Amino acid sequence: MATGKGGRRGNWGNGRGRGARLGVGEGGLDGERAGEGGTVTGEMGGGGRRSEGSGRVVVWARRRRRNWFGGSGATGHGVAARATSVGMEDGDGLRGKGRWRPVRGGRIIDEATKEAAVVDPVEPHKILRVAQENGVDLKLVLTTHHHWDHAGGNDKIKQLVPEIKIFGGSVDNVQGCTNKVENGDKLSLGTGIDILCLHTPCHTKGHISYYVTGKEGDDPAVFTGDTLFVAGCGKFFEGTAEQMYQSLCVTLGSLPKPTRVYCGHEYTVKNLQFASTVEPDNVRISQKLSWAEQKRHTGLPTVPSTIEEELETNPFMRVDLPEVQEKVSCKSPVDALREIRQRKDNWRG
Ligand SMILES: [Zn+2]
Repeated sequence: MATGKGGRRGNWGNGRGRGARLGVGEGGLDGERAGEGGTVTGEMGGGGRRSEGSGRVVVWARRRRRNWFGGSGATGHGVAARATSVGMEDGDGLRGKGRWRPVRGGRIIDEATKEAAVVDPVEPHKILRVAQENGVDLKLVLTTHHHWDHAGGNDKIKQLVPEIKIFGGSVDNVQGCTNKVENGDKLSLGTGIDILCLHTPCHTKGHISYYVTGKEGDDPAVFTGDTLFVAGCGKFFEGTAEQMYQSLCVTLGSLPKPTRVYCGHEYTVKNLQFASTVEPDNVRISQKLSWAEQKRHTGLPTVPSTIEEELETNPFMRVDLPEVQEKVSCKSPVDALREIRQRKDNWRG
C-alpha cells in the first residue's frame, strides 16, 4: 500500500501511506452484495507523484471509463499492477452463488519500452482496448492457475494478439498456455522488469505466483492468485496442508516484507472477521478489520497488502507461532494450518 518510502507498512490503522491513492474499479461493489468480493483495484503513486526519479514501482488502476494504465507520464521503469476480484458467496471457493463479474487483469508495465504483461486477463477486449488507447504493447500473459475465472480469457487474448506469450504452471493445464513455467523460472519485460515464477501449489497443483521487481530499487510486488489472499488463503482443492504451508509460509513468507501483495479476490473483510475468531486478542487484526470495513464501505479496495501485514494479520501465515498453534490446539505449524483451514471452511460468519 505504500508509495516509495515512508508508507510501506500500509495506511491502515495509523493513517499513513503518504501519497497512496486508492481507486475503485468497475463499480467495485459486487462483493458488498455477494458476500465479500467485487472488483478491486489499487491505485497509488501515479502521475505527478513520481517526479522524484525514475524507476519507482507504481501501482494504479482504473475507474470505470477511466484510464486503466494511469496516464502517469512517468519516465523510467515501473511496475503497474491491478488486482481485481470476482463476487462470490464464499470467500475462497471456486464458485459461489454471487453475481459474477469476471473482470480482472493485473497489469505490469515497463514504462521505458511501454511493454506490458497482464495477470489473469479474463476480459481481453477491455484489456486490449485500454492498451491500445494508451500505446501499451501487450507482450505477456501471466496465468496464476487454471480456474476459469483466472485463465478463461487466454484463448481470446491469443486470438486478439497472436504474438502474445501465455505463461502458466507446467502442471496446471492452463488454457491457451504457450510457455509452461516451473518454480524459479525468470521472465523479463521490456528492459526494466524482472518476473520470478514461484510454484505455490495446493489451491491447484500447478499454481504459480509471480514476483515482480523493477531494476531500480522499487518495492516489489507479488501476484498471488488464489494462494494468498489478504488475511486468508485459497481452498485446498488440489493439495495438502503441507503444500500450502510451503507455499504460504515458506515461499511467499520469505519474500521481502515490503513486497506488495496483489491477490485474485477481495475477501479481506470476511477474512479478517474470521481471523479475529482465531486470534481475538490480535490488535493488528482488529485494527486492520476496522480499516478494511471503512474502505469497503466507501467503495475502496483493500488490495494490495504487504507481506509484512500478512505476517501480522493472516492466521494462515502465522502458524509458526506457538501462540497461534495453541489457539487451535495444535502442536505443529502444518497441523495448525490444516485446522484453521477446516475452521474457515465451516465458518459461517
Ligand atoms: Zn482458483
